[in-house]
Parts: sequence; C-alpha cells; structure tokens
Amino acid sequence: METDKIEQLRKTVVRGAQEIHSKGLVEDGEGNVSVRINKNEILVTPTSTKYDLLSPELIVHMDLDGNVLGTGKIPSTEVKMHLAVYKDRPKVKCVIHNHSPYISMLSILRKNIPIIMEQQLIFLGGEIRCTEITEAHTEEMGASALKALGRNNAAILANHGAIICGKSLDHAVRFSVVLEKLAMVYWGALQIGEPLPIPEKNLEEHEKMFTRLFACFPKRLRST
Ligand SMILES: [Zn+2]
Repeated sequence: METDKIEQLRKTVVRGAQEIHSKGLVEDGEGNVSVRINKNEILVTPTSTKYDLLSPELIVHMDLDGNVLGTGKIPSTEVKMHLAVYKDRPKVKCVIHNHSPYISMLSILRKNIPIIMEQQLIFLGGEIRCTEITEAHTEEMGASALKALGRNNAAILANHGAIICGKSLDHAVRFSVVLEKLAMVYWGALQIGEPLPIPEKNLEEHEKMFTRLFACFPKRLRST
C-alpha cells in the first residue's frame, strides 16, 4: 500500500516540478520540489534537475534527518531547507524552492512585500518577509527561512529566491505563481511611485479565508 502511495507521489513531484518550469519560475538546474510521504519521509527532485527529462524514478526518497532511502540520484543540498520546514510544520505536504525573476530582484534588495493585494493575504498569509543573508546550502538557511515564513506560506530568501509551502502540491504550485505575480506587481509599482498597503481594518475576512483554507502553520503560532 505504502509502495503504491510512494509511486503515485513520485508522479506528483514530477508534475509539480514541470508545472513550475513551464510557468517560468525555474530554469534547468535550479530550484526543487518536494512532497511529504508521512511524518518522517519525503520525496524530492534530484540535484541539477533537467525539468523536461524528469521522470518518477529520478525522484529522491529521503527521511527528515537527510538520509537518502534507496539508491539512485542524490538531492540538492538545498533540501536542508525543505527538511527544516517539514520538521517544524507538520501540516506542510509540499515545499517548493525557486529562483523566479521578480522575486530574485526583490531578494537582492532584501525587500519585504507589504500587504498590497487581497490574494496575497488569502493565499500567502500576509506581508512577505525576506530572510537575513545566510550562506547557501547550509542548515542556517533552513532556520532563517522558517523565521521569515512565520505563519506564512511563502518567504523571500536574501540574494537567492523564494521558498513556498502548502497543504498540497497544487496549493504550493498556485502559491508560487501568486508570489511571483505579486513580486512583479510590487516591483512595477515601485517604478511609478510609492505602493500603498491595504489598511488592516479591510483585511479581516481575508485573514479568515487564509486561516480556514490555506494556512499550514503549527498550532503554537495560532494567535487566538
Ligand atoms: Zn536555490
């Protein structure tokens, strides 16, 4: 039964990876997509992914301590960031890391994105924060990503890209698209003038939608 589930999830990872590639959020050789199998195990795209050539047997099976289970391809060292999110947030079923162009631009400026659009709150959880600068491919990057994520489903990684998580692969793919569009709109608005955030009093309903439908933060971060 578990074997069937894993085979199915391998296909799910391939589908998600090819979707973010087709949407221009990653180029060959960058980014990674993972899904949770159970409490202690995940499946993740291999290092230096060639998206068009990706197939289920190339997906790497590993535990949350970073051990690869079985033979075959190896994961990217960026998987440490995914593992940190799965360990800290039991509800997360999918993590995506990409280097999409507009998010990458904001990441170099280390800019947060204030709440400027309703869908940002509904899908992503609020202001998108940028991490402190850390050395790439380290444990420190995972801790830094978790801090910037807070309760949210997405964060900007300083001078690097984005991390996105969700309760399902479909959620995480959708959030990745929403995040890149948001970054593009924010960047564009900054060229014209000073973007104005949505006043907090107008956000109550959207906050409820986020919490009810899309949030995947741990119980300890509940505000009420
Ligand atoms: Zn990266």
